[in-house]
Amino acid sequence: MRFIYICVECANYIGELELTNWNEAMLGFDTLTFAEKQELLDLDFGQRQGTVKAICETCYKKKIAAQLFYDGVDKPSFH
Ligand SMILES: [Zn+2]
Repeated sequence: MRFIYICVECANYIGELELTNWNEAMLGFDTLTFAEKQELLDLDFGQRQGTVKAICETCYKKKIAAQLFYDGVDKPSFH
């Protein structure tokens, strides 16, 4: 099975994995809820290909930066 990882934020191609023996736990899919799986995974067993929506490094960094920014706003420090 080939897994193609696409960024959920910017739709960029992240990379791909080719796995012969795999299970959901191995790929971390077992931690997803049914709704999340529906949203993030598109597995085509006939074509032996699946699309996995993940987050690319650029968007991840943006998210972290935004998170830190908002944390700073929420909890101002007046030392
Ligand atoms: Zn991205």
